[in-house]
Amino acid sequence: MSLFGIANRNQKTFRPKKNAPSGNKGAQLQRHINATLGSGNLREAVRLPPGEDINEWLAVNTVDFFNQVNILYGTLTEFCTPFHCPTMSAGPKYEYRWADGVKVKKPIEVSAPKYVEYLMDWIELQLDDESIFPQKLGTPFPPNFRDVVKTIFKRLFRVYAHIYHSHFQKIVSLKEEAHLNTCFKHFTLFLWEFRLIETAELAPLHDLIESIILSC
Ligand SMILES: [Zn+2]
Repeated sequence: MSLFGIANRNQKTFRPKKNAPSGNKGAQLQRHINATLGSGNLREAVRLPPGEDINEWLAVNTVDFFNQVNILYGTLTEFCTPFHCPTMSAGPKYEYRWADGVKVKKPIEVSAPKYVEYLMDWIELQLDDESIFPQKLGTPFPPNFRDVVKTIFKRLFRVYAHIYHSHFQKIVSLKEEAHLNTCFKHFTLFLWEFRLIETAELAPLHDLIESIILSC
């Protein structure tokens, strides 16, 4: 399956790609990520570049990971349906119910595609909020910035967990396995480097994560 084919098949379901925050600075950090990724050294790619601001680094990478998950999940939308995935699960032991603490306070059981839709809408809302993700360089980040980033990572992780547990065979047949594994490896090394997710949350993909951490 060519990239062109994937893009065509999912044209309607794609969300527009988000640009890096922090203006030119963000774009520059984005180039740094792309260059280090291109070299194949993922450990190096996640590290805070010397002299850079940690919050700007977290912001640019958060947008980047959001875009990646969006594209990956976008290739599965015709298979991840309410019929095939009536609940948002990650294997038989883990099931997620949706709540955002604002509009939905009491967790509700929804299908996986609905859950991912709520989740992506919620993340998009945070990324578009300039008081959380400033677009202009030098605008201060809010005191709770890291907490917002952690929640975004926790939720993006659930999409990966669902993909690995419920759609891995489909990923293999689409020949997207290597791409999925590279994206997840990058994501895992980043969250590990900055301690962005509680260990208990990672349980559904524990073995995979352990092998990534130990092999790098
Ligand atoms: Zn699914």
